[in-house]
Formats: sequence, C-alpha cells, structure tokens
Amino acid sequence: MNPLHVDLLEVVPGLADRLQAEGWAPGPPAHVAPASVLIDARLARDLDCAGCGHAGHAFAAFHQDGAYRGVATCYHCGAETEV
Ligand SMILES: [Zn+2]
Ligand SMILES: [Zn+2]
Repeated sequence: MNPLHVDLLEVVPGLADRLQAEGWAPGPPAHVAPASVLIDARLARDLDCAGCGHAGHAFAAFHQDGAYRGVATCYHCGAETEV
C-alpha cells in the first residue's frame, strides 16, 4: 500500500441529488476562495474511483449557510463520492 496514494472514500449513489434535497445549493459559499475550489476540483479529478478504479472525476461544489461540500462524479461509471 502506498500511503501517498489517495482513494475516494465511499461511493454514495445519488449524493448530489441528496444534498440538494437537503437544502444544499449548487456552487461554493462566498467565503471560499475560487482557488480553493479549483484545488478541490483538481484533487477530485485525479482520484481513482472507488466504484470502477478509473481516474477522472467531475467536481461540483455545494453550499448551505456558509458550509461547503464537494461531490466528485466519476466520468467513467458515474459513481458519486464526497471529497
Ligand atoms: Zn470503470
Ligand atoms: Zn468510476
């Protein structure tokens, strides 16, 4: 095991839809710098999918009352994970 290798934690089917159903709005909160969001997006992009093992994920930010969550969606199999 390479301790520097980062794997996605867990596939959560329908995560983005669930967040929005819980009141999370698309986009990062105003206090999160665009550069930070970009870093998260790059991290998500490079992670190996827990569902299919391929690298490559789209990233979507969500916010609710200043809180921030990110969802990575595998380009290959569509698995969604929180990042
Ligand atoms: Zn795959
Ligand atoms: Zn996948």
